[in-house]
Amino acid sequence: MAPDANTAIMPTDLLRPDLLRLNASPAGKEEAIREAAQLLIAAGCIDSAYAASMLRREAVANTFLGHGVAIPHGMVEDRGLVRRSGIAVLQVPGGIEWNPGQTAHLVVAIAAQSDAHIAVLRRLTRLMQDEARLTALFTVTDPTALAATLSEDAPVTAPTTPGGDLAERFDWVVDYPTGLHARPATAWVETARASTARIQVRHGDLVADAKALVALLQLGLRAGDSVVVSAEGDDAVAALARMKATITRLTAREKADAAAAAQKSRAPVRGWTPPNPLPAVPGIAASPGLAIGPVHVLPRAAVSVPDEPVPLIEGGDRLHEALSLTRQNLKALADDTARRLGPSEAAIFTAQAEILNDTDLVTLACQLMVEGHGVAWSWHRAVERTAAGLAALDNPVLAARAADLRDVGQRVLARIDPALRTGGAPDLPDTPCILIAEDLSPSDTAALDMARVIGLATAQGGPTSHTAILARTLGLPAMVAGGAALMELANGTPAILDGQTGRLHLSPAEADTADARAWIAREEARKAEEEARRGLPARTRDGHDVEIGANVNRPDQVAVALSQGAESVGLMRTEFLFLERGDAPGEDEQYETYRGMLTALEGRPLIVRALDIGGDKQVPHLQLPHEENPFLGVRGARLLLRKPELLETQLRALYRAAKDGGALSIMFPMITALGEVQALRAACDRIRAELDAPAVPLGIMVEVPAAAIQTDVLARHVDFFSIGTNDLTQYALAIDRQHPELAAEADSLHPAVLRLIRLTVEGAERHGRWVGVCGGIAGDPFGAALLTGLGVRELSMTPRDIPAVKDRLRGSDLSALRQAAQRALDCETADAVRALDGGEA
Ligand code: PEP
Ligand code: MG
Repeated sequence: MAPDANTAIMPTDLLRPDLLRLNASPAGKEEAIREAAQLLIAAGCIDSAYAASMLRREAVANTFLGHGVAIPHGMVEDRGLVRRSGIAVLQVPGGIEWNPGQTAHLVVAIAAQSDAHIAVLRRLTRLMQDEARLTALFTVTDPTALAATLSEDAPVTAPTTPGGDLAERFDWVVDYPTGLHARPATAWVETARASTARIQVRHGDLVADAKALVALLQLGLRAGDSVVVSAEGDDAVAALARMKATITRLTAREKADAAAAAQKSRAPVRGWTPPNPLPAVPGIAASPGLAIGPVHVLPRAAVSVPDEPVPLIEGGDRLHEALSLTRQNLKALADDTARRLGPSEAAIFTAQAEILNDTDLVTLACQLMVEGHGVAWSWHRAVERTAAGLAALDNPVLAARAADLRDVGQRVLARIDPALRTGGAPDLPDTPCILIAEDLSPSDTAALDMARVIGLATAQGGPTSHTAILARTLGLPAMVAGGAALMELANGTPAILDGQTGRLHLSPAEADTADARAWIAREEARKAEEEARRGLPARTRDGHDVEIGANVNRPDQVAVALSQGAESVGLMRTEFLFLERGDAPGEDEQYETYRGMLTALEGRPLIVRALDIGGDKQVPHLQLPHEENPFLGVRGARLLLRKPELLETQLRALYRAAKDGGALSIMFPMITALGEVQALRAACDRIRAELDAPAVPLGIMVEVPAAAIQTDVLARHVDFFSIGTNDLTQYALAIDRQHPELAAEADSLHPAVLRLIRLTVEGAERHGRWVGVCGGIAGDPFGAALLTGLGVRELSMTPRDIPAVKDRLRGSDLSALRQAAQRALDCETADAVRALDGGEA
């Protein structure tokens, strides 16, 4: 990087030994500022009046930078009191309260005549991303170590600096067929972050911090590339062993994914051939199917981000808040996508969230702010610069990731300033259209109004882009990489999009359209045959029926679930009505949604789960207190009982929907004790009476071992049970369901979990109640078989898991399933249970 004004003066000139005071213990913030000012006065940096100016500043602005660091400085108009630039550092190991809830351990008092202090601030912003190194400074006893750490100024473009290896190392040749893309890289970063050691990955002269996703991606690693992974620090040897385990563990999955993709691409292309040659825009096939309709071109979203400088501290706060809200939002999105579509699709959003933790990206934005630019402008610039860097590397995988980076960047921008919100639901004509866009972000694709978009064609992007993956999941014909010609099309041009061959045929004649319609009809007939098979009941060979439900949260997802063979909705997670938006939906809006679900189900059963907020599902706008251990905190029913306004609004909306007809049941999450059930039942009874609504079955989720063990007691008070095996497994095995390292061990087929399920069934049967399962294991064919053998009567799952589960049950005998379940209960380990797979039919 070319030297600029900010690096011309070395920060060491500013951080002189006489300006550092270690182990200070000021009585409070004012005393700390005065003590730091005294150092600056003694060193001849400021007039004594500047101390008062620093205190005045505190009254009008917050100088707490975050992560234990405060940077007091004087008012702009008092710059004349600064004689020469200097920085005093007061280390306060015991900490002082800077503002309520904010404790400072490093008080970095700035006297700035020019912008010479910026290098130190830049260093501080970098350190704030490296918690371990920063915290070490709070207690370090060697002043030169403190000065050295604050003076180091690694270049921003760290990922591409040549460098040597660290003390411990291992060599590895990339054997991921599609190279190091965002999903495996995210797993590397997670493992690296779990350690305090410094870990880096080197490929030739390029070195990346293993804790920084974008830096890793910028290495552009392809299959066959040699890398050296090295580490230093306390934990280096163990950290490297964990890195190696993660890196090599992913190989099998990467190879399997690539093989599946290759097999798909070898499958005969059953595209449509127009009877007469037509002008066409060729692209790359991304999602199969044929769409006939007018095109609608989305104009390029020209985001103009104004540069509106604000005080550095305020800008830092706004960026920090925007990043953490976006992180929470992406987590919710990943969670919802995992529950609805599956882990691969969810990984799209997990990888996006990881981008936000990228030190270099955040530091770049901070540096631009420190240079005097506005927060939105700085963030946008940092994202654009990094994305352009990724797109410029001659690597199609990374080019696709540039779209992700811009997508996530846009989310943050909208949080910084809602006026900069773009994308979301585009303006679409009323008649269904083939949507043409330069590129579509995964968020835009996920938010498309499926009633008005019948196909997608993008000028850019690649077949492995997340947009393409989502289009396939949504069943929307799509092609990508159609080039600039696409954007030149006039709105309304009639077209036929073939997602199998990746071609957009233009201005078809009547005969072409008729031929395409006939092709669609043949495809639909083929699909209908498949659907008919899925529509058969899950009846075992000896005549036992298991009800198959879908886990669906929105009315517009019901049709897909039914086409997969769902007979009901066994779990509607209503918290997702809250999680992806900035405010809480009111009673009317909720009523419309529940009504919409019941209407779409046309009389089939719907089980609505009351809000399960807390744990991994945080709703920022409810401003709930922070909990150290949210999975063991005020979650689910516990929260509902403490927030009557949430509970009552939801119950009123539900009972109003019940009055309009349909087969509604209500169930409550995270029940632990009988008292909760009684209180919730009483609330239901009261609201039902107020609204003169019909009684509906009331059930509870069994997610906590206490509830499973006491099912016989609870069964007197509820109408049904649905076991949430995701949580039941986490609480029974004491494994955080999102733990990156342990999650693989959290097997819902662990014999301990199966015994809890058996207890639940026995307790419920004693009072004639039925038990369902709506956790992930219900959608695993072998899991479904064992659950049926254990006496579970209803299984609710992600819609696309339904056909395989039905096939499995239809090929089994209940008597054999019961025996298999008994064998599973007697197993000693989860692996032993898994080994029974296939032996029960
Ligand atoms: C479960 O815990 O299994 C469940 C279905 O609920 P959720 O995944 O929403 O916590
Ligand atoms: Mg749960």
